[in-house]
Amino acid sequence: MKKLLDMFWRGKIKNSLLTCFLALALALITLISTIVFYFLSDVTGEARIIARFITIAALLVVIVFLPVVILVARKISYPLEVLAQGADEISRGNFGFTLDLSANHEIDTLALSFNRMSVKMKDQREVLLKQISMLEAQKQEIATQNEELAEANAHLELIAITDQLTGAYNRRYIMREIEQELSRSVRHSLPMSITMIDIDNFKDINDTHGHQVGDEVLKEVVQVLSSSIRTSDLLGRYGGEEFIIIAPLTGHQEALILAERLRETVSKWPFETTYGFIKLTISLGVATSNGKTETSQGALLEQLLAQADAELYKAKAAGRNCVSPLYIEERAATS
Ligand code: GH3
Ligand code: MG
Ligand code: MG
Repeated sequence: MKKLLDMFWRGKIKNSLLTCFLALALALITLISTIVFYFLSDVTGEARIIARFITIAALLVVIVFLPVVILVARKISYPLEVLAQGADEISRGNFGFTLDLSANHEIDTLALSFNRMSVKMKDQREVLLKQISMLEAQKQEIATQNEELAEANAHLELIAITDQLTGAYNRRYIMREIEQELSRSVRHSLPMSITMIDIDNFKDINDTHGHQVGDEVLKEVVQVLSSSIRTSDLLGRYGGEEFIIIAPLTGHQEALILAERLRETVSKWPFETTYGFIKLTISLGVATSNGKTETSQGALLEQLLAQADAELYKAKAAGRNCVSPLYIEERAATS
């Protein structure tokens, strides 16, 4: 019984109507039975005629109107079923799905509106899809432009800190780095060293083989020096044929050993130029900060640079192709 009620209230309209008709049919059967029963009893005269008339009328009503009611119900339930199916198709994304319905005026209008809505949704979806693909393309374009911009920025940054000829850091950058390294050294009381390097008799190379060959030599000197230092060390072009190496966390002895290694490497290196192989030497001056200072940081920086310069001068004065003060100390020890 509960199932029957559920079917009536919540089930398909078709089923509800069916339930309704079943009930109607039952009622009619009961009515007819009652009337027949009445016929069989002792009803006579006018009452009997009226009863017969009612029975015939009821039967006529049932015979004529029941199929009509069924037809009308079908006329309502069928379009509803088709509409439900259409809505289901649309909910699955099948936009553009149209109904083939022809029932009565209201249903026709409803079907027409439904079909119009469905076609419009299809068109709108196509417009939206086009817009989405356009946006995707724009997004891609912007991402590519951003990448190119980032690359260009990185390139510009590199240009801004690099010496154009040799590829070493330029003077501005290397000075800034010395300052920063020195400030770290003072803050943490840690050592750092700088080494000033000058190519010996470089003017002779220019004068003998030309400026072009001189340029080639400068480039190769940078390559040789770069490949001989640690990745934490920085190499910059300080001036024409002068370079500076910053060696963070490096004490004096360690820096002298590094300088001597560089001197030896360069002195043995066959520099390949358009003229042919050229041999050359460098002089080096080393200065170290142990991170302790009584003066200002600016004064310490000046002091450090002046010291490295002075040591380089000493190396030149001592005959070139040497490291100062190691060279001086060695000389002192051996003499
Ligand atoms: P020293 O051993 O005393 O250092 O002698 P030097 O000849 O190396 O020094 P000097 O200062 O007399 O000459 C340096 C030369 O370096 C002069 C200059 O023309 C040359 N020079 C500076 N910058 C460049 C450059 O970018 N390219 C070339 N080819 N030569 C340069
Ligand atoms: Mg010089
Ligand atoms: Mg020189």
